[in-house]
Amino acid sequence: MGETGTLVIRNIGLLLSGKIEQPILDADCVISEGGRIAAIGREADLDTTGAETVVDAKGVTLAPGLIDSHVHPVVGDYTPRQQQLHWIDSTLNGGVTTMISAGEVHMPGRPKDIVGLKAMAIAAQRWYENARPSGVKVLAGAPVIEHGMEEQDFKDLADAGVTLMGEIGLGSVKDGATAGTMVGWARKYGIQSTIHTGGPSIPGSGLIDKDVVLEAGTDVVGHINGGHSALPDDQIVCLCESCRAALEIVHNGNERAALLTLNTARELDKLDQVILGTDGPAGSGVQPLGILRMIALLSSLGTVAAETAVCFATGNTARMRKLDVGMIEPGRAADFVLMDQAQHAPGKTILESIQLGNLPGVGMTIIDGVVRTGRSRNTPPAQRLPEVIPA
Ligand SMILES: [Zn+2]
Repeated sequence: MGETGTLVIRNIGLLLSGKIEQPILDADCVISEGGRIAAIGREADLDTTGAETVVDAKGVTLAPGLIDSHVHPVVGDYTPRQQQLHWIDSTLNGGVTTMISAGEVHMPGRPKDIVGLKAMAIAAQRWYENARPSGVKVLAGAPVIEHGMEEQDFKDLADAGVTLMGEIGLGSVKDGATAGTMVGWARKYGIQSTIHTGGPSIPGSGLIDKDVVLEAGTDVVGHINGGHSALPDDQIVCLCESCRAALEIVHNGNERAALLTLNTARELDKLDQVILGTDGPAGSGVQPLGILRMIALLSSLGTVAAETAVCFATGNTARMRKLDVGMIEPGRAADFVLMDQAQHAPGKTILESIQLGNLPGVGMTIIDGVVRTGRSRNTPPAQRLPEVIPA
Protein backbone atom coordinates (compact mmCIF):
# COMPACT_ATOMS: atom_id res chain seq x y z
CA MET A 1 0.00 0.00 0.00
CA GLY A 2 1.29 3.45 -0.86
CA GLU A 3 1.05 6.59 1.20
CA THR A 4 -2.00 7.73 -0.74
CA GLY A 5 -4.13 4.68 0.09
CA THR A 6 -6.96 4.32 2.56
CA LEU A 7 -6.27 2.43 5.76
CA VAL A 8 -8.96 1.19 8.12
CA ILE A 9 -8.03 0.04 11.62
CA ARG A 10 -11.00 -1.69 13.22
CA ASN A 11 -11.72 -3.52 16.43
CA ILE A 12 -9.57 -1.19 18.55
CA GLY A 13 -10.05 -2.09 22.21
CA LEU A 14 -8.73 1.14 23.72
CA LEU A 15 -7.94 4.35 21.89
CA LEU A 16 -5.42 6.71 23.49
CA SER A 17 -5.64 10.22 22.03
CA GLY A 18 -2.30 11.69 23.07
CA LYS A 19 -4.21 14.71 24.42
CA ILE A 20 -3.64 15.25 28.10
CA GLU A 21 -7.03 16.92 28.59
CA GLN A 22 -8.81 13.82 27.26
CA PRO A 23 -6.39 10.90 27.00
CA ILE A 24 -8.98 8.23 26.16
CA LEU A 25 -11.37 8.41 23.20
CA ASP A 26 -14.64 6.53 22.93
CA ALA A 27 -13.98 4.92 19.55
CA ASP A 28 -13.02 1.57 18.05
CA CYS A 29 -12.05 2.53 14.50
CA VAL A 30 -9.62 4.92 12.81
CA ILE A 31 -9.49 5.64 9.08
CA SER A 32 -6.58 7.30 7.33
CA GLU A 33 -6.40 8.58 3.78
CA GLY A 34 -3.25 9.71 2.03
CA GLY A 35 -1.24 9.16 5.21
CA ARG A 36 -3.46 11.48 7.27
CA ILE A 37 -6.10 10.65 9.84
CA ALA A 38 -9.49 11.10 8.15
CA ALA A 39 -12.02 9.77 10.66
CA ILE A 40 -12.26 8.40 14.20
CA GLY A 41 -15.32 6.79 15.76
CA ARG A 42 -17.44 3.70 16.09
CA GLU A 43 -17.01 1.40 13.11
CA ALA A 44 -20.78 1.11 12.78
CA ASP A 45 -21.02 4.86 12.23
CA LEU A 46 -18.15 5.19 9.74
CA ASP A 47 -17.83 4.53 6.02
CA THR A 48 -15.13 1.88 5.82
CA THR A 49 -15.60 0.97 2.18
CA GLY A 50 -12.81 1.43 -0.35
CA ALA A 51 -9.94 0.56 1.99
CA GLU A 52 -6.71 -0.67 0.42
CA THR A 53 -5.55 -1.98 3.78
CA VAL A 54 -7.58 -3.20 6.75
CA VAL A 55 -6.02 -3.87 10.13
CA ASP A 56 -7.97 -5.93 12.63
CA ALA A 57 -6.64 -4.58 15.90
CA LYS A 58 -7.97 -7.66 17.73
CA GLY A 59 -9.01 -5.52 20.67
CA VAL A 60 -5.58 -4.07 21.44
CA THR A 61 -4.73 -0.46 22.30
CA LEU A 62 -3.98 2.13 19.64
CA ALA A 63 -1.97 5.23 20.54
CA PRO A 64 -0.22 7.90 18.48
CA GLY A 65 3.27 6.81 17.45
CA LEU A 66 5.63 7.76 20.25
CA ILE A 67 7.95 10.76 19.91
CA ASP A 68 11.50 10.77 21.24
CA SER A 69 12.20 14.45 21.88
CA HIS A 70 15.94 14.02 22.35
CA VAL A 71 18.19 11.87 20.19
CA HIS A 72 21.68 12.28 18.74
CA PRO A 73 21.57 10.73 15.26
CA VAL A 74 24.47 11.08 12.87
CA VAL A 75 23.80 9.42 9.55
CA GLY A 76 21.41 6.72 8.37
CA ASP A 77 20.69 3.94 10.84
CA TYR A 78 24.18 3.93 12.28
CA THR A 79 25.63 5.61 15.35
CA PRO A 80 29.38 6.03 15.76
CA ARG A 81 28.87 6.71 19.49
CA GLN A 82 28.57 3.01 20.34
CA GLN A 83 29.42 1.64 16.89
CA GLN A 84 25.86 0.41 16.54
CA LEU A 85 23.79 -0.40 13.47
CA HIS A 86 19.98 -0.32 13.20
CA TRP A 87 19.37 1.51 16.46
CA ILE A 88 16.56 3.52 14.83
CA ASP A 89 14.84 0.37 13.53
CA SER A 90 15.18 -1.12 17.01
CA THR A 91 13.57 2.00 18.46
CA LEU A 92 10.69 1.76 15.99
CA ASN A 93 10.18 -1.70 17.48
CA GLY A 94 9.76 0.18 20.76
CA GLY A 95 6.86 2.20 19.34
CA VAL A 96 8.76 5.39 18.41
CA THR A 97 7.78 6.82 15.02
CA THR A 98 9.30 10.31 15.33
CA MET A 99 12.70 11.35 16.69
CA ILE A 100 13.98 14.87 17.21
CA SER A 101 17.69 15.58 17.01
CA ALA A 102 19.33 17.56 19.78
CA GLY A 103 22.46 17.81 17.65
CA GLU A 104 24.47 15.45 15.45
CA VAL A 105 27.29 15.70 17.94
CA HIS A 106 28.74 12.23 17.51
CA MET A 107 29.90 12.81 13.95
CA PRO A 108 33.62 12.03 13.99
CA GLY A 109 35.49 15.22 13.17
CA ARG A 110 32.36 17.34 13.61
CA PRO A 111 33.09 20.82 12.23
CA LYS A 112 33.09 23.59 14.80
CA ASP A 113 33.91 26.47 12.45
CA ILE A 114 30.80 28.38 11.51
CA VAL A 115 30.60 27.62 7.82
CA GLY A 116 31.34 23.97 8.56
CA LEU A 117 28.73 23.55 11.30
CA LYS A 118 26.11 25.21 9.13
CA ALA A 119 26.97 22.94 6.21
CA MET A 120 26.72 19.83 8.38
CA ALA A 121 23.36 20.89 9.85
CA ILE A 122 21.92 21.47 6.40
CA ALA A 123 23.29 18.17 5.14
CA ALA A 124 21.94 16.24 8.16
CA GLN A 125 18.50 17.78 7.69
CA ARG A 126 18.59 16.64 4.08
CA TRP A 127 19.87 13.10 4.52
CA TYR A 128 17.24 12.21 7.12
CA GLU A 129 14.52 13.92 5.10
CA ASN A 130 15.59 12.04 1.99
CA ALA A 131 16.12 8.62 3.61
CA ARG A 132 14.04 7.70 6.63
CA PRO A 133 15.47 4.63 8.39
CA SER A 134 12.64 2.04 8.43
CA GLY A 135 10.22 4.91 7.80
CA VAL A 136 10.96 6.67 11.10
CA LYS A 137 10.69 10.44 10.94
CA VAL A 138 14.08 11.67 12.12
CA LEU A 139 13.91 15.45 12.42
CA ALA A 140 17.58 16.31 12.26
CA GLY A 141 19.96 19.04 11.24
CA ALA A 142 20.40 20.68 14.64
CA PRO A 143 23.53 22.85 14.70
CA VAL A 144 25.47 23.23 17.92
CA ILE A 145 26.05 26.93 18.37
CA GLU A 146 29.54 28.36 18.68
CA HIS A 147 30.90 31.80 19.56
CA GLY A 148 31.12 34.08 16.55
CA MET A 149 27.76 33.19 15.00
CA GLU A 150 25.75 36.17 13.85
CA GLU A 151 22.09 36.78 13.09
CA GLN A 152 22.69 36.20 9.38
CA ASP A 153 23.90 32.67 10.15
CA PHE A 154 20.54 31.77 11.66
CA LYS A 155 18.72 33.30 8.72
CA ASP A 156 20.91 31.29 6.34
CA LEU A 157 20.17 28.09 8.27
CA ALA A 158 16.42 28.75 8.31
CA ASP A 159 16.39 29.65 4.62
CA ALA A 160 18.09 26.32 3.94
CA GLY A 161 15.43 24.34 5.83
CA VAL A 162 16.96 24.01 9.29
CA THR A 163 14.27 24.11 12.01
CA LEU A 164 16.15 22.96 15.11
CA MET A 165 19.08 24.03 17.21
CA GLY A 166 21.29 21.46 18.91
CA GLU A 167 21.71 21.41 22.66
CA ILE A 168 23.27 24.64 23.84
CA GLY A 169 26.29 23.81 25.96
CA LEU A 170 27.77 21.12 23.71
CA GLY A 171 29.62 23.84 21.80
CA SER A 172 31.67 26.82 22.96
CA VAL A 173 28.61 28.89 23.97
CA LYS A 174 27.96 28.10 27.62
CA ASP A 175 27.00 31.54 28.99
CA GLY A 176 23.41 32.70 29.30
CA ALA A 177 23.85 36.08 27.65
CA THR A 178 25.32 34.79 24.38
CA ALA A 179 22.92 31.84 24.36
CA GLY A 180 19.94 34.16 24.91
CA THR A 181 20.96 36.38 22.01
CA MET A 182 21.36 33.43 19.65
CA VAL A 183 18.11 31.81 20.81
CA GLY A 184 16.39 35.09 19.97
CA TRP A 185 17.86 35.07 16.45
CA ALA A 186 16.90 31.43 16.01
CA ARG A 187 13.34 32.05 17.17
CA LYS A 188 13.00 35.05 14.85
CA TYR A 189 13.62 32.71 11.90
CA GLY A 190 11.50 29.83 13.17
CA ILE A 191 14.29 27.64 14.59
CA GLN A 192 13.44 25.80 17.84
CA SER A 193 15.99 25.69 20.61
CA THR A 194 17.00 23.37 23.43
CA ILE A 195 19.73 23.34 26.05
CA HIS A 196 21.86 20.80 27.89
CA THR A 197 20.68 21.14 31.51
CA GLY A 198 22.94 19.87 34.28
CA GLY A 199 26.50 18.69 34.60
CA PRO A 200 28.79 17.65 31.74
CA SER A 201 27.67 14.52 29.86
CA ILE A 202 31.01 13.41 28.46
CA PRO A 203 34.48 14.97 28.48
CA GLY A 204 34.20 18.20 26.50
CA SER A 205 30.68 19.22 27.46
CA GLY A 206 30.06 21.64 30.31
CA LEU A 207 27.86 22.56 33.26
CA ILE A 208 24.66 24.42 32.46
CA ASP A 209 22.94 25.60 35.65
CA LYS A 210 19.50 27.09 36.16
CA ASP A 211 20.67 30.68 35.66
CA VAL A 212 22.08 29.87 32.23
CA VAL A 213 18.91 27.95 31.30
CA LEU A 214 16.70 30.85 32.34
CA GLU A 215 18.81 33.47 30.58
CA ALA A 216 19.04 31.39 27.40
CA GLY A 217 15.24 31.08 27.30
CA THR A 218 15.13 28.07 24.99
CA ASP A 219 11.88 26.46 23.81
CA VAL A 220 12.84 23.21 25.54
CA VAL A 221 14.60 22.71 28.87
CA GLY A 222 16.62 19.80 27.52
CA HIS A 223 16.97 16.85 29.91
CA ILE A 224 15.86 18.78 32.99
CA ASN A 225 16.74 15.59 34.92
CA GLY A 226 20.34 15.75 33.74
CA GLY A 227 22.24 13.98 31.05
CA HIS A 228 23.24 12.17 33.27
CA SER A 229 24.26 14.52 36.14
CA ALA A 230 21.23 16.46 37.35
CA LEU A 231 21.20 19.93 38.85
CA PRO A 232 20.56 20.21 42.61
CA ASP A 233 16.90 19.76 43.53
CA ASP A 234 16.24 23.42 44.30
CA GLN A 235 17.40 24.39 40.80
CA ILE A 236 15.14 21.83 39.15
CA VAL A 237 12.19 23.08 41.19
CA CYS A 238 13.06 26.65 40.23
CA LEU A 239 13.13 25.74 36.53
CA CYS A 240 9.74 24.04 36.82
CA GLU A 241 8.35 27.14 38.53
CA SER A 242 9.91 29.68 36.15
CA CYS A 243 9.67 28.08 32.74
CA ARG A 244 6.86 28.02 30.25
CA ALA A 245 9.12 25.94 28.01
CA ALA A 246 8.88 22.18 27.61
CA LEU A 247 10.24 20.28 30.61
CA GLU A 248 12.04 17.40 28.97
CA ILE A 249 12.69 14.25 31.00
CA VAL A 250 15.10 11.72 29.49
CA HIS A 251 15.94 8.07 29.96
CA ASN A 252 19.68 8.78 30.05
CA GLY A 253 19.17 11.13 32.98
CA ASN A 254 18.82 10.87 36.73
CA GLU A 255 15.68 8.91 37.59
CA ARG A 256 15.19 10.55 40.98
CA ALA A 257 15.40 13.97 39.32
CA ALA A 258 12.87 12.75 36.77
CA LEU A 259 10.40 12.00 39.55
CA LEU A 260 11.15 15.34 41.23
CA THR A 261 10.39 17.11 37.95
CA LEU A 262 7.17 15.17 37.49
CA ASN A 263 5.95 15.78 41.03
CA THR A 264 6.85 19.47 40.87
CA ALA A 265 5.15 19.90 37.51
CA ARG A 266 2.03 18.21 38.87
CA GLU A 267 1.95 20.51 41.92
CA LEU A 268 2.27 23.50 39.60
CA ASP A 269 -0.45 22.16 37.26
CA LYS A 270 2.13 22.01 34.46
CA LEU A 271 1.90 18.38 33.39
CA ASP A 272 1.09 19.61 29.87
CA GLN A 273 4.70 20.88 29.65
CA VAL A 274 6.26 17.47 30.41
CA ILE A 275 7.81 15.74 27.38
CA LEU A 276 10.02 12.66 27.06
CA GLY A 277 13.24 11.72 25.33
CA THR A 278 15.95 9.14 25.58
CA ASP A 279 19.08 11.26 24.93
CA GLY A 280 20.43 8.26 23.06
CA PRO A 281 22.78 7.28 21.57
CA ALA A 282 25.03 8.41 24.39
CA GLY A 283 27.52 7.10 26.87
CA SER A 284 24.67 4.99 28.27
CA GLY A 285 24.14 3.42 24.87
CA VAL A 286 20.91 3.34 22.91
CA GLN A 287 17.52 2.51 24.37
CA PRO A 288 15.15 0.93 21.87
CA LEU A 289 12.50 0.74 24.60
CA GLY A 290 13.55 3.96 26.32
CA ILE A 291 10.34 5.89 25.77
CA LEU A 292 8.16 2.97 26.88
CA ARG A 293 10.40 2.58 29.90
CA MET A 294 9.98 6.27 30.79
CA ILE A 295 6.21 5.93 30.48
CA ALA A 296 6.25 2.91 32.81
CA LEU A 297 8.69 4.58 35.24
CA LEU A 298 6.74 7.82 35.54
CA SER A 299 3.39 6.05 35.68
CA SER A 300 4.43 3.55 38.33
CA LEU A 301 6.82 5.47 40.60
CA GLY A 302 5.35 8.89 39.77
CA THR A 303 1.76 7.72 40.22
CA VAL A 304 0.49 9.10 36.95
CA ALA A 305 -2.31 7.39 35.03
CA ALA A 306 -0.71 5.38 32.22
CA GLU A 307 -2.87 7.11 29.61
CA THR A 308 -1.55 10.46 30.86
CA ALA A 309 2.06 9.27 30.79
CA VAL A 310 1.55 8.29 27.14
CA CYS A 311 0.61 11.93 26.45
CA PHE A 312 4.05 13.02 27.69
CA ALA A 313 5.53 11.09 24.76
CA THR A 314 2.93 12.04 22.16
CA GLY A 315 0.58 15.02 22.26
CA ASN A 316 2.57 17.10 24.73
CA THR A 317 5.69 16.82 22.59
CA ALA A 318 3.75 17.52 19.41
CA ARG A 319 2.28 20.67 20.90
CA MET A 320 5.49 21.98 22.45
CA ARG A 321 7.41 21.13 19.25
CA LYS A 322 4.67 22.21 16.81
CA LEU A 323 4.55 18.86 15.00
CA ASP A 324 1.69 17.36 12.97
CA VAL A 325 2.03 13.98 14.71
CA GLY A 326 1.33 12.76 18.26
CA MET A 327 -2.46 13.08 18.50
CA ILE A 328 -5.40 11.10 17.18
CA GLU A 329 -7.16 13.89 15.38
CA PRO A 330 -8.36 14.36 11.77
CA GLY A 331 -5.70 15.93 9.56
CA ARG A 332 -2.73 14.73 11.60
CA ALA A 333 -0.22 12.20 10.32
CA ALA A 334 -1.46 8.62 10.54
CA ASP A 335 1.37 7.47 12.81
CA PHE A 336 0.29 4.82 15.30
CA VAL A 337 1.56 2.22 17.72
CA LEU A 338 -0.67 -0.75 18.52
CA MET A 339 0.12 -2.48 21.78
CA ASP A 340 -1.34 -4.81 24.34
CA GLN A 341 -0.65 -5.94 27.85
CA ALA A 342 2.46 -8.09 27.88
CA GLN A 343 2.02 -11.81 28.38
CA HIS A 344 2.01 -12.75 32.07
CA ALA A 345 2.46 -9.12 33.17
CA PRO A 346 0.41 -8.39 36.29
CA GLY A 347 -2.60 -6.08 36.09
CA LYS A 348 -6.19 -6.41 34.96
CA THR A 349 -5.75 -4.13 31.93
CA ILE A 350 -2.89 -2.72 29.86
CA LEU A 351 -3.16 0.58 31.73
CA GLU A 352 -3.06 -1.06 35.14
CA SER A 353 -0.14 -3.19 33.98
CA ILE A 354 1.85 -0.09 32.98
CA GLN A 355 0.94 1.60 36.26
CA LEU A 356 2.48 -1.41 37.98
CA GLY A 357 5.71 -0.67 36.13
CA ASN A 358 5.45 -3.17 33.28
CA LEU A 359 6.13 -2.45 29.63
CA PRO A 360 3.35 -3.07 27.12
CA GLY A 361 3.99 -5.36 24.15
CA VAL A 362 4.11 -3.60 20.79
CA GLY A 363 2.20 -5.48 18.10
CA MET A 364 2.38 -3.11 15.13
CA THR A 365 3.66 0.30 14.07
CA ILE A 366 2.19 2.46 11.32
CA ILE A 367 3.73 5.63 9.83
CA ASP A 368 1.92 7.85 7.33
CA GLY A 369 -0.81 5.24 7.06
CA VAL A 370 1.63 2.47 6.10
CA VAL A 371 2.21 -0.61 8.26
CA ARG A 372 5.94 -0.60 9.11
CA THR A 373 6.42 -3.38 11.65
CA GLY A 374 4.45 -6.27 13.10
CA ARG A 375 5.16 -7.92 16.43
CA SER A 376 8.04 -6.13 18.10
CA ARG A 377 11.28 -8.04 18.35
CA ASN A 378 12.20 -5.99 21.42
CA THR A 379 9.23 -5.62 23.76
CA PRO A 380 7.86 -8.43 25.89
CA PRO A 381 5.35 -10.34 23.75
CA ALA A 382 1.87 -8.85 23.68
CA GLN A 383 -1.13 -10.97 24.67
CA ARG A 384 -2.96 -10.23 21.42
CA LEU A 385 -1.56 -9.13 18.05
CA PRO A 386 -3.20 -6.96 15.41
CA GLU A 387 -3.32 -8.39 11.93
CA VAL A 388 -3.57 -7.07 8.38
CA ILE A 389 -6.63 -8.76 6.87
CA PRO A 390 -7.92 -8.89 3.29
CA ALA A 391 -9.63 -5.61 2.40
ZN1 LIG B 1 22.88 16.89 26.82
